[in-house]
Amino acid sequence: MASKLHHLHFLLIPLLSQSHIIPLTDFGKLLAKRGVKVSIITTPLNAIRYRATIHRAIESGLRIQLIALEFPSQEAGLPPGCENMDLLTSMDLASDFFRACEMLKAPLENMILGLDPKPSCIISTNALPWTQQVADRFKIPRYIFETISCFTLFCSKKLSEAQIQDLESFLVPNIPHKIEFKKAQLPENMRKTPKDFEKVIDQIKKSQLSARGSLVSSFEEMEHWYVEALRRERDNVWCIGPVSLCNEKIGEKSDRGNNNSIDENYCISWLDSKEPKSVIYACFGSLCRVSAAQIKEIGLGLEASCFPFVWVIRGLDCSDEVEKWLFEEKFEERIEGRGLIVRGWAPQVLILSHQSVGGFLMHCGWNSTLEGVCAGVPMVTWPMFAEQFYNEKFIVNVLGIGVRIGAEGCVKFGGAEEQSQGLVKWDRVKRSIEVVMDGDEEGKERRRRVEKLAKMAKEALEQGGSSYLNVTLLIQDVTQHVINSY
Ligand code: UDP
Repeated sequence: MASKLHHLHFLLIPLLSQSHIIPLTDFGKLLAKRGVKVSIITTPLNAIRYRATIHRAIESGLRIQLIALEFPSQEAGLPPGCENMDLLTSMDLASDFFRACEMLKAPLENMILGLDPKPSCIISTNALPWTQQVADRFKIPRYIFETISCFTLFCSKKLSEAQIQDLESFLVPNIPHKIEFKKAQLPENMRKTPKDFEKVIDQIKKSQLSARGSLVSSFEEMEHWYVEALRRERDNVWCIGPVSLCNEKIGEKSDRGNNNSIDENYCISWLDSKEPKSVIYACFGSLCRVSAAQIKEIGLGLEASCFPFVWVIRGLDCSDEVEKWLFEEKFEERIEGRGLIVRGWAPQVLILSHQSVGGFLMHCGWNSTLEGVCAGVPMVTWPMFAEQFYNEKFIVNVLGIGVRIGAEGCVKFGGAEEQSQGLVKWDRVKRSIEVVMDGDEEGKERRRRVEKLAKMAKEALEQGGSSYLNVTLLIQDVTQHVINSY
């Protein structure tokens, strides 16, 4: 088997966004650990961000590499160097960004012609339908890497089939849980499809039909019913996660996605000085724009809760107004010893997996959700856009491991959140944190549930576990295709 696998070469193509590159890179490491060769397609700027991760993996003996293609930012009308969605200054540029990604098709095909060994398959994230044409040209199978849960995939399908256009709120039909949506909570493309995205969405749907299988970044035990339901609709649905668990050593957990804006050792010793399960970790992912006014309320809420906290303020949100407020209020002096602010990028998995962390104030991105589950940490849920409201309902109503902050509607992707959500005041932030950290019976039960899921997640990825076996099925499927094509 090992010698057969040696010839397999998996080509991984993520959308150039942190929530796609990070899990697909983790999955690449998982595949390489199974003996196959892995190449990840990227661009020069993203290669710099991921260099340390890949270097570490190569040093540990894995056959994995990054292949950087020049990104046509300017040709597509983007600012120079705009190679990752987290660098878009406005989401109005998103359609140019998708067009630039599609312009990678020709250079990618030229690059494949020179690859040795030839790729055996393509695994690309759901937002890159044109990669199906590349796979067809080279007569290799393509698998979709789904960066959302089976719950979201299935519920959004049910909702798109239902007649909900004129309703303000509705239940998702024919599922075992009572999941109610308000119209304003649906992703923008389900309420009205912006013209630019119509074509992309149509292509994504078509490419799903031609793909050989779907690899879902999730694990079966957490959402069994929805996995089964999806399997009745699509061929070869394999849950292969949670992929973040492939990072076992401290260095692996901290070098993930970007260069950290805080020294990892300082971060660990700061956390070491706190009581077990006493710290709140607050982070809103790689894309959310949080306004200065909202940042102040979050800061005041964290301060007013009696818990120690690590608070990540995303680089783009560290505006002059925020800095002025922090300075004038002497905020960092006020919270000294109890609160740690990270301006920019934090080693999230490293922090979450520390024993001192006891709660996660988060935006319900799917990767962050899984990382919270793996750490066994209950969550305060604050969804903002895209599929984040699905994730909130999954966390709160299906798994029972989170408490809602109370956001009622999606914000414009990339827009300041209070435009449509209204400002969440500091006392609501404080109260939600207190509820999630509470040691009453309900709080204990919530924590017990998430800790149980964390154990199940680990077992899924271990040899013989469900995700481990699903990766085996994938490798067997690719091997079979290679044999048949001789
Ligand atoms: N992340 C991180 N440090 C940060 C912010 C985010 O490591 O300061 C990582 C996080 O661990 C997750 C990813 O970035 O893997 C964010 O993905 P998610 O799906 O949660 O949200 P999105 O960025 O799409 O909103």
